[in-house]
Amino acid sequence: MSVPGSPAPSGLEVTPAVGSATDPCVHCGFCLPSCASYRVLGTEMDSPRGRIHALKAIEAGELALDATLAGHFDSCLGCLACVSACPSGVRYDQLIEATRPKLNAPELRTPTQRAFRTLLFALLPYPRRLRAVLTPLRAYAGTPLQHLARRSGLTRLFGPQLEAMERLLPPLAPEAFRDDFPAVVPAQGERRARVGLVLGCVQRLFDPAVNRAAVEVLSANGIEVVIPQRQGCCGAATHHQGELEQTRELASALVESFAAAGPLDAVLVAASGCGHTLKHYGAILAEEPGWAGRGAEFAAQVRDAHEFLAQLGLSAAFQARLAPLPHPDGTPASAERPLAVAYHDACHMLHGQGIREQPRQLLRRIPHLRVKEAVEAGVCCGSAGIYNLVQPVEAAELGRIKAADLAGTGADLAVSANIGCTLQIRQHMAGQERPLPVLHPLELLQRSWQAGFTDSRTAAAGMER
Ligand code: SF4
Ligand code: SF4
Repeated sequence: MSVPGSPAPSGLEVTPAVGSATDPCVHCGFCLPSCASYRVLGTEMDSPRGRIHALKAIEAGELALDATLAGHFDSCLGCLACVSACPSGVRYDQLIEATRPKLNAPELRTPTQRAFRTLLFALLPYPRRLRAVLTPLRAYAGTPLQHLARRSGLTRLFGPQLEAMERLLPPLAPEAFRDDFPAVVPAQGERRARVGLVLGCVQRLFDPAVNRAAVEVLSANGIEVVIPQRQGCCGAATHHQGELEQTRELASALVESFAAAGPLDAVLVAASGCGHTLKHYGAILAEEPGWAGRGAEFAAQVRDAHEFLAQLGLSAAFQARLAPLPHPDGTPASAERPLAVAYHDACHMLHGQGIREQPRQLLRRIPHLRVKEAVEAGVCCGSAGIYNLVQPVEAAELGRIKAADLAGTGADLAVSANIGCTLQIRQHMAGQERPLPVLHPLELLQRSWQAGFTDSRTAAAGMER
């Protein structure tokens, strides 16, 4: 079969000279209302227009990239909302991607900032190391002890950045500490496609139910799922921060881990931050001797799981099985009282991959489910890779705005298809008068399908998250 889903947006593989890419900017300011950093900081230098102006000045030799200016680039979330908003077609994504590596010069950051980033990049992309660090925290995360530590203000003693890490720490499920997927999960019924699945590193630890849901939904739709057992991190966190060497190492190792998978119709991922980076592998590995072709070939196969499923179409057997989901109070959704779901657009899905309709289309296939739209759907939630760890104040403000926006829809629950957003929104939902559970769209499809042949109380289990 041909690979379903749209190809990576054109231009993704090009990193131009900064000068020519800033030329189309006419300083109109149309991008400002959608800019997350401008929203919370309110200064021109923390807006796309201000940063583009600064890049032009640097290029012209009128301005030097010092620590103060670097701070204004560091305040950018890389959410790419300005790219969607710009009527002149300015590729700010390419500009910030070309600029990030320069911000990593040692003289532009304090020793504390450098040490914290070193710690993050030594841990986050390596599930084994992360598991080793998190194992002793299983007795703490999600327990009354954690609530007590937070309420007493004890966690504030860690400093703002470690406190931000602690605040994101979810309850740790036992399955987060093992990779127990089989190498191949067969298609149920007639095989319609054969795909590989990228598990992600943060997702498999902090929300392992998502990959389980992805595998079950794909398999139930007649899709064979190949899960390379030695796969590691895709490099999204380092890619978004301009850590090029480490990103290349992670990217080439991931491609290698899929080498023995055999012919695949696509490589899928259920975390859009990862998907965005995976679709860039052609550019990321372009300069690596022997890897350029392999990177581009791999990238061409990558699809977001929703993108692929929507294009392929749900199987008739799967669709026929979908049953209404219960409301949080346990009563089943009905035509008179549908289940209202607030959809969160992850930036690297919406602005980075141009995927908007497909997850909504899939959710609408669930009987008696209504998708509700947030007022500021295109504005970043503040997660943005490691942004909520390295810029915790700005990120927290954005998280509160996003949680209030989603809760303000009056929905019964919210959905997010990116693990970083999910953790961020769950954290800030806690401060809402009526906090919504936050689930992944594929989890709703899985539960609706399960509800088709089990007692609906089973599907209701876990709707609280
Ligand atoms: S980036 Fe685009 S929208 Fe923003 S000021 Fe420049 S031309 Fe206007
Ligand atoms: S990427 Fe996001 S935060 Fe950065 S300038 Fe564009 S809209 Fe603002």
